[in-house]
Amino acid sequence: MGSVAENIARVRGGLPAGVGLTAVSKFHPVEKLMEAYEAGQRVFGESRVQELLTKVAAMPEDVEWHFIGHLQTNKVRQLVGKVSMIESVDSVRLLGLIDAESVRAGVESRVLMQVHVAREETKFGFDCDELLDFFRSGGHRGLAATRICGVMGMASNTDDAERVSADFGRIAEVFSSVRSLCGDELPDFRELSMGMSHDYPEAVRRGSTMVRVGSAIFGDREY
Ligand SMILES: *Cc1c(COP(=O)(O)O)cnc(C)c1O
Repeated sequence: MGSVAENIARVRGGLPAGVGLTAVSKFHPVEKLMEAYEAGQRVFGESRVQELLTKVAAMPEDVEWHFIGHLQTNKVRQLVGKVSMIESVDSVRLLGLIDAESVRAGVESRVLMQVHVAREETKFGFDCDELLDFFRSGGHRGLAATRICGVMGMASNTDDAERVSADFGRIAEVFSSVRSLCGDELPDFRELSMGMSHDYPEAVRRGSTMVRVGSAIFGDREY
């Protein structure tokens, strides 16, 4: 494992042009984030609201923060306006709350819809059919201050490479289905966020536009 700067250079070097890198910095101290910042990294991902807010206050202003964890509805107000993207919208209710809080705060929120395909990893996210139904029934219409920018998903946490590839394939398929279904109404629907430290090369082969890499940059997390 090299320095943070070396790790970032290595990960970036393996990404095609146009694929974004979100450095997942959860559980790592601000000094580590600053090493990444000094190496040119500007997009950081966090999964807990309080930790994110502390880091927002401590880091330079041109950092773009992505929220990637399960967002409890009672924390929406604290988060809206502080992040450039909420990648983990996992319910219609949460989407509605983000929109209402964005209106109230006079800001615009950019979000991704989280799709759940992995069998064991997380219980959060929409099933593929559920998400397609949401768009088919026009759930995306009538948002006043929220832009749906795409889809986020995780593959199963397994060594079975075929399974991982198939999971990414399903997430990519939902993404393109939504695009063909209502891409005209959703000009910002362009991002397919998938791929973590152990599986991002396969995610990129499957069409990812944004990878979320933590331990391959910062090392193991100390919980
Ligand atoms: C923690 C986390 C990551 C990064 O995981 P690594 O294995 O450390 O790269 C990516 N996405 C989400 C949603 C996470 O919670």
